[in-house]
Amino acid sequence: MMQNIKIALEVECYNLDFTFKPSFISSTYRQVGKNTWRKINSYLFKNLTIKQKKDTVFITGLVSISKESIEEFVHAETGLWHAPFEYDIHKAPNEFKELLEKLSQLYPGVRIPVSLFEQDKIFAAVCLSKRTDYETFVRHWMEKILKKYGDNILNIIYASKKDLLGIGTSYQIFDLVKTLKSMLMFHSSLEKLPIFIKRYLENKDPIENPFEFLSRKIPPQIARMVLISLVKGIGPKTADSYLLNTSFHTDIVPVDTHLKNVTRRLLLLDDFKVPQSSLCSKYGCTEMVSRKLRIPLCPMSSRCIRSKILELGKLAGWFQTLSYLFGRDYCRKNKPRCDICPLKKICFYFNILRSK
Ligand code: SF4
Ligand code: SF4
Repeated sequence: MMQNIKIALEVECYNLDFTFKPSFISSTYRQVGKNTWRKINSYLFKNLTIKQKKDTVFITGLVSISKESIEEFVHAETGLWHAPFEYDIHKAPNEFKELLEKLSQLYPGVRIPVSLFEQDKIFAAVCLSKRTDYETFVRHWMEKILKKYGDNILNIIYASKKDLLGIGTSYQIFDLVKTLKSMLMFHSSLEKLPIFIKRYLENKDPIENPFEFLSRKIPPQIARMVLISLVKGIGPKTADSYLLNTSFHTDIVPVDTHLKNVTRRLLLLDDFKVPQSSLCSKYGCTEMVSRKLRIPLCPMSSRCIRSKILELGKLAGWFQTLSYLFGRDYCRKNKPRCDICPLKKICFYFNILRSK
């Protein structure tokens, strides 16, 4: 049965728009005003609205989740489950501190929302985001998909070609169907995994919900390896994006094009490589992870953007989110907007490389 909720949360150092826009959570909402987002109706949520007014976030609407889960849901969904990341900048390695300070002044109050009940929808949005603009295309496609399939988003795997074309003509929509089918079957190929991964999957309850299983029941580094190894169409970036938005782990770094540009231009990581599926499916990125989980260390770990950013520990996912916002607004791949860029004073590319 649905119940009415009316919750007001006092917040500090929080910005709903900056938090939602880069998060895949926003693919289950419509923005209806500045700092105001309305959940697309489903059997769990009706007219659920999240609105920020100065230092208060209001959550109103009808929900069909247990009373005990409401508080956890509200904190997870808004990203308020975590304290402001800004408070921990002093813990970052020195080489990141100035950049983190500047980015967080430009985009204050960014948190990382976590989906508790709609991991399948987040997974679909992440799959659709491959090589395309999230805000322009993915949210638009997701709105159409949710309108048609509602909470039974997995039914899209039975859609006819005509139905899929009704959502859009891009290959991402057709690929989504293949990836979802593969995700629903991944547990039938567990024997293909190396023994050091398999041992994390043994003695687990039967995998009824693969989305929840991967985001909540096993360590994210192992879930990442499983996704990349066994689910068709999932690479390092999509695996990391899914896990960052559905687990409560912020030491996860999706290496997207914005992160590549920002780190290469502002941190001089020019000769660093991007994650490679063939390595990510077998190795851990850092010595700490490899020791803790008893998995081999990646031979590329000293030259990979992801392992470098993981030096930020729990701030890594936040840094990636800030880089996304900054890359989208200023540091674009082609034609970066250097003339109006607020970070040009500390930019190696602008001050050194560009003038060569
Ligand atoms: S360090 Fe290796 S395992 Fe980690 S992301 Fe890079 S390529 Fe993948
Ligand atoms: S000055 Fe140009 S290259 Fe440097 S960070 Fe700004 S937009 Fe990017």
